[in-house]
Amino acid sequence: MARRRQLYEGKAKILFEGPEPGTIVQYFKDDATAGNGAKSGVITGKGVLNNRISEHLMLSLQEIGIPTHFIRRINMREQLVKEVEIIPLEVVVRNIAAGSIAKRFGIEEGKRLPRSIVEFYYKNDALNDPLVSEDHIIAFGWACPHDLEEMTGLAMRVNDFLCGLFAGIGIQLVDFKLEFGRAWEGEDMRIVLADEISPDNCRLWDTQTNEKLDKDRFRRDMGSVKEAYQEVARRLGILLEEGNSTEHKPTDTPV
Ligand code: 5GP
Repeated sequence: MARRRQLYEGKAKILFEGPEPGTIVQYFKDDATAGNGAKSGVITGKGVLNNRISEHLMLSLQEIGIPTHFIRRINMREQLVKEVEIIPLEVVVRNIAAGSIAKRFGIEEGKRLPRSIVEFYYKNDALNDPLVSEDHIIAFGWACPHDLEEMTGLAMRVNDFLCGLFAGIGIQLVDFKLEFGRAWEGEDMRIVLADEISPDNCRLWDTQTNEKLDKDRFRRDMGSVKEAYQEVARRLGILLEEGNSTEHKPTDTPV
């Protein structure tokens, strides 16, 4: 493949200039980090799985009218996406207490929240992605009130849809992180879902056993990380046909 210009290298992905103006190639690495880079490792095959899982979820969301940056998957590790101006916020939606919210408010992990909660974090590694209020976001100009309303509405719709999708395959959607971007069409701007949706940025627990099927297995040194991601892919009915050992057993899904 012709060498392309690298635009950005993140912890789990590399972005390359796309084949046409306004497009970007998103390459999924096997690298994993946790605690803002404090811990790092390689999960062989993770990039391939996340590329497929994110493709599946983004396409499903597009079908219900959620605008996303996703155009098409190119190969096992790459997908073509629209170039967007990333809004420097991490939008987290939570259904069940886990991770930082459990710690922050002293809530027992696993307790269902009274209702789904949307939180915003300022995307800034040097500051450890601090939790921010809507007032901070507007005052510092990271997004205007209209963009915030749009992102909150989209995040809630994504949550409703994904909760149902995962419930159908025996998985509880505990929480997840989304990123949004501004896509320009001439003078017109549209907020679209960007980045990826995968076990790297969702907490996914088996409905029956509460077994963790996500990156917490890496963060908490629980082992069998790849196997957990494969299990998510298997239940989603994603067939990994090329060069991956994940078996496809249609009779096993949904659980
Ligand atoms: P928490 O705030 O509890 O650490 O994370 C909440 C949810 O957002 C989890 O599903 C977690 O995977 C996701 N999340 C939050 N921040 C990040 C981040 O910087 N990177 C990734 N991959 N996921 C994140």
